[in-house]
Amino acid sequence: MEDLWRQRTGSTMNHSAWINPRTKREKDAKPLFQTEVWECVSDDCPCWMRKGLTFEAHPKCPLCGSAMKPGVRMLPRVSDKEPR
Ligand SMILES: [Zn+2]
Repeated sequence: MEDLWRQRTGSTMNHSAWINPRTKREKDAKPLFQTEVWECVSDDCPCWMRKGLTFEAHPKCPLCGSAMKPGVRMLPRVSDKEPR
């Protein structure tokens, strides 16, 4: 699932794994699923990333370098091939 996404984007590392929700808005109403994410602990920083896209046990924020904490967000599936 995420493997396919990585193959398509050619990305294996964190720098392109995070997605800013302000610039990447869902245009059409896609179903949302509870997705495990890492969230930056800094209040000033909006950064977060899908857990499925990082392999580190305790990733650092790619924007500000702060620690990241586990969280859950309602997100659309990243892959069409993913089972519903
Ligand atoms: Zn941050």
